[in-house]
Amino acid sequence: MDDCIFCKIINNEIPSTTIYEDDDIKAFFDISQVTPGHTLVVPKKHVQDIFAYDEDLAERVFKKVPMIARAIKASNPDIIGMNICQNNGEIAYQSVMHSHIHLVPRYSKDDDFSMHWGDNTGLVDNEQLQARADKIKQHLED
Ligand code: 5GP
Ligand code: ZN
Repeated sequence: MDDCIFCKIINNEIPSTTIYEDDDIKAFFDISQVTPGHTLVVPKKHVQDIFAYDEDLAERVFKKVPMIARAIKASNPDIIGMNICQNNGEIAYQSVMHSHIHLVPRYSKDDDFSMHWGDNTGLVDNEQLQARADKIKQHLED
């Protein structure tokens, strides 16, 4: 895509600090470095979001994430955990509309990353949960 910033990075039209590259993906540092080593794993094929992956692309992209995560972790003994996030849609904080996976190494409770998880345990009864699940099941593809 012509005006896509990540396509430009993939094509080396914009420089990036790249830690891994193959035929299918490029992994480079996020410019914001939320925490040191914050990396984006990006498919070379321009797909907007998770909803646009077919199984083959998903396999080729996501299978590389553990290897890259391990390398980041092994690079620094201060890394004691990692959040892996994948934002889809503006409401979900996606700002670059070329799909990507964030690998955010974690150093302490006070590093510069946080997430809020609401807790709605027990607010919906089992019947409602089952109805919700059934609606999703109707749309699963083989
Ligand atoms: P999103 O908000 O879409 O999940 O994440 C997009 C990420 O892309 C942001 O964390 C942002 O810092 C990063 N980003 C935006 N422009 C550039 C750039 O030109 N180079 C790099 N390396 N990262 C970028
Ligand atoms: Zn793109």
